Amino acid sequence: MKVIKKISEIRNWSAQERKSEKTIGFVPTMGYLHEGHLSLIREAKKYAEDIVVSIYVNPAQFAPGEDFERYPRDFERDENLCRKEDVAVVFYPDDREMYGKNHNTYVINEELSRLLCGKSRPTHFRGVATVVAKLFNIVQPHLAVFGQKDAQQFVILKKMVDDLNFNVKMMAAPIVRETDGLAMSSRNKYLNSTERREAVVLYESLKMAEKEYDSGNMDFNDIIARMHKYIQHNSSARIDYIEYVNYSDLGPVDPQKADTLIALAAYFGKTRLIDNTILKQR
Ligand code: AMP
Repeated sequence: MKVIKKISEIRNWSAQERKSEKTIGFVPTMGYLHEGHLSLIREAKKYAEDIVVSIYVNPAQFAPGEDFERYPRDFERDENLCRKEDVAVVFYPDDREMYGKNHNTYVINEELSRLLCGKSRPTHFRGVATVVAKLFNIVQPHLAVFGQKDAQQFVILKKMVDDLNFNVKMMAAPIVRETDGLAMSSRNKYLNSTERREAVVLYESLKMAEKEYDSGNMDFNDIIARMHKYIQHNSSARIDYIEYVNYSDLGPVDPQKADTLIALAAYFGKTRLIDNTILKQR
């Protein structure tokens, strides 16, 4: 396995692999890898011979006052995990390599980046779309795998790929959870023991929503109200939002025509966690 830090070097590697007709699968991450990240690598491996994992805590997707500085980092551990997964290249650039002195070009989805998480993190998806566009241009993968954990991110990036004609096949993989149901996240490390215990209410509230929907409840406002009640009753979480949207374009729901995304964000202490479920069209 190679660890590459320089853009010019990974470009050369990628060009060589493409020349010998290898398929390149790409998994962008911010590191501090867990089973959720590893599941994306395994998924990518089903369709690609060479897997590239990028490990880069992207400053452009953090607003001032967010957790950029204290975001957990452990490159040695990540490197070992990637080696075990038989990753071909870990791309591990630094900020000077990724953002030049006067970087001022951004990729923005004017509509989708304002919804859901975008309401409380107005510059977040601009940072995400920009760095993923840059990484696609640098790594030149055939396909890329993202987690459904960040469902809005996936919808926005897929739209970016369509709108800007990137030649990358976009794939989403299911949410990997801890044994009690909490969605795995590098940020779970911030939770103290009470917060960690309580955080499972997010998953439980989503399960409740699935159950309601499966038993025929199509009143999404009622489902969301029940989720609010459940979370408030069983934890000290501060809910940022719980919303339902069409999974394909984050627009109005139409369960007869498309899957419905129920997405939420909530604070446990200072830690903001997100989770979601996709209710299948019927
Ligand atoms: P991050 O390192 O948090 O930027 O995440 C990198 C990729 O891993 C993104 O595509 C995430 O959606 C995905 N991911 C993060 N947590 C999970 C999880 N629990 N299950 C599946 N994918 C995940």
